[in-house]
Amino acid sequence: MQPLSAVLVALVIQGYRFMRFSVLGSGSRGNAVFIENGSTGILIDAGFSGKEIEKRLNSIDRELADVQAICVTHEHNDHICGAGVLSRRCKIPVYANDGTFLAGEKRMGKLFHYKEFETGATVEVGDLQVRSFRVSHDTADPVGFVVGDGDRYLGYCTDTGKVSHLMAQRLSKCQALILEFNHNLEMLKNGPYPLPLQQRVRSSRGHLCNEDAAKFLSQLKGAHLQHVVQAHLSEKNNRPELARRSIKELDLDWTDTTLSIAEQDRALELVEV
Ligand SMILES: [Zn+2]
Ligand SMILES: [Zn+2]
Repeated sequence: MQPLSAVLVALVIQGYRFMRFSVLGSGSRGNAVFIENGSTGILIDAGFSGKEIEKRLNSIDRELADVQAICVTHEHNDHICGAGVLSRRCKIPVYANDGTFLAGEKRMGKLFHYKEFETGATVEVGDLQVRSFRVSHDTADPVGFVVGDGDRYLGYCTDTGKVSHLMAQRLSKCQALILEFNHNLEMLKNGPYPLPLQQRVRSSRGHLCNEDAAKFLSQLKGAHLQHVVQAHLSEKNNRPELARRSIKELDLDWTDTTLSIAEQDRALELVEV
């Protein structure tokens, strides 16, 4: 039998290596996710003010000094509005592809440092590998991300009007998945949005509805999928219980999977992947 101290050391080392994440907020008024592994912390998107992101990090016992990179999915305001200020104020490099940098340049302003990646390529940030994949949205070169440590993986896929084989391939190995459940089709049809905006949301370069997201999730659900966060819910065209019901209706076994819904106004607790 191993001495207790050796077991404890092994547990500490193992614990230290766990990847954790928190959705700091999600929806059309702002998006950001914090992911950490060991001494490395990154943000996917920074779609709140710098102050608000700091406040939400503090709410999960983390601070801006824990962030070593901001990885940006696309140039819409609800994903980049705090990227520039955080980059300058805290000397954090911003990672994005060329299309997003060019289209988001004015909004982000001067950056402390920027690192361009090719869509599809993997970049290393400390202990984390970040791989982008193309999604379908009305911006220059929108992406989702798979973030991992070589052993565990978290997928981030929002702001896409349709899903693809490539996306399924990239996301199928993930233990944790943050997936867009933007709207309920009936609510969108009968809701306050004028027709052109409804058409934009529904288009193949818009946002994913509950039904399509649930169908996609059923394709991705392997035995290893442990955490699903439903994200980017529309406040006008969706309700948490409808998003939740679309998953329950799949008639799959979720016994070993935690299901949660990202919120617009507060951070979810850190989850270990
Ligand atoms: Zn968005
Ligand atoms: Zn968007």
